[in-house]
Amino acid sequence: MSESVITQSNPDLSDHITQPCHNKSRYCTRCARALKACLCQYIVPLANRAPLYILQHPNEVAHPKGTAALLSASLTQCEVHVAEQCGQDTWLDSRLADPTRRCYLLWPDEQAIPLQQLQTAVADPASVAFMILDGTWRKAYRMLHSHPVLAQLPRVTLGPIKGSYAIRKAPFAGALSTLETGYYLLSQWEQDPVRYAPLLTLFKQLNTQWQDFAEGRRA
Ligand SMILES: [Zn+2]
Repeated sequence: MSESVITQSNPDLSDHITQPCHNKSRYCTRCARALKACLCQYIVPLANRAPLYILQHPNEVAHPKGTAALLSASLTQCEVHVAEQCGQDTWLDSRLADPTRRCYLLWPDEQAIPLQQLQTAVADPASVAFMILDGTWRKAYRMLHSHPVLAQLPRVTLGPIKGSYAIRKAPFAGALSTLETGYYLLSQWEQDPVRYAPLLTLFKQLNTQWQDFAEGRRA
């Protein structure tokens, strides 16, 4: 599982940002970021064909470095759901019960089939949905094993990824933010990186913003 991708919503971009307070009025309702850090001007609405379901660990919800909300605000078909601690989850059950789509879990282990291989086996790209676990490795692993229906899903892994951002200190090679994961997944699945490029632009803006905060250019 080490060389490929699992989503991690809190890449270590900076240690200089304090946790947000719980005053919701200080947060943008669209991108869920603090108003002074709102990135909505960089959000380009994209109509993705295969829906993304993001199952978020409860600890990630108010995480200032989370990117799931930015991904979901960019896509017409992307839902973020905070996972129950364990056991049955009605949201999860209903998404997996959709008879029109087969759901695949993005989870790069030895059981996972490469996305490219799935592509050749599936006639209609819109006939699948992807489940992404949003949390650190450890939390994602716990989520996977505390929800038996997740563990039963067929698993897919991304193809090779070129390039990375020097600013982001990944805890291990191949760790990606949720926003980047969404970009690579959809651009590979629909074979249209240009169309999904706004997701990477948004991620670059986020990086620039973190750096500006860290270096004191923004208060
Ligand atoms: Zn915003």
